[in-house]
Amino acid sequence: MQAVSAQESERSASERREALKEVWAQARGCTRCPELAATRKTVVFGAGNANADLMFVGEAPGASEDEQGVPFVGRAGKLLEKLLGEIGLARSEVFIANVLKCHPPGNRDPLPIEIDNCQEYLHRQVELIEPTVICTLGNFSTKLLRGDPTGITRLHGQPEVLTLGRRAVRLYPIFHPAAALYTPRMLETLREDFTRLPELLALGAPEQPEASEPPEPAPETPEAAPEVAPTEVDGQGSEIDQLGLF
Ligand code: URA
Repeated sequence: MQAVSAQESERSASERREALKEVWAQARGCTRCPELAATRKTVVFGAGNANADLMFVGEAPGASEDEQGVPFVGRAGKLLEKLLGEIGLARSEVFIANVLKCHPPGNRDPLPIEIDNCQEYLHRQVELIEPTVICTLGNFSTKLLRGDPTGITRLHGQPEVLTLGRRAVRLYPIFHPAAALYTPRMLETLREDFTRLPELLALGAPEQPEASEPPEPAPETPEAAPEVAPTEVDGQGSEIDQLGLF
């Protein structure tokens, strides 16, 4: 199965990677959410293949992710990797991100203002990676990307074509793996929904909206720290450890 983009694109894989690193350099100094900026250990930007056809969007980093700077490295992440393996995919073939890039203290739910503050980073990731399929994990990412309060219980397993920014993608909401950790029935549903991913990927990109205007320049992020040199180690781990970009 093809999970890494073979489609003709204006951007090469290395251009996508470099552009993502620039967004990461902005995000890692972000102070838009004062409480999160004060309590986080790392900004968990996202990790995986910058050229992926399949992108997962979770909720927010947990404590393990905050420690390691990589999304989905805890128990829910292990389950996600296992389910990916069952459909013949490796983590290195997909891109994994979250609605929030910072760990909410005490594992509390993301606040609406935090989701709002952070969404520009996710939209930039989608714009640069240009995935064919975005798999939203649970309620937060599903509601954010659909712009609608309908919950995951009603929507899971039902793909739909959605235009995000200038790009049409196949959105595929599924349960969050953390919710399936302790509930065998939910795990079975999640597994069933996972088995439909290969056929969804095989459909390729949906018809794209007509390009109307030239792409806008990347928005300024005034609160963000100045860009750091790619090899700089500033207590948040090296670029490769932190970003896990392929
Ligand atoms: N749960 C999430 O939503 N994201 C992570 O990165 C880890 C757990």
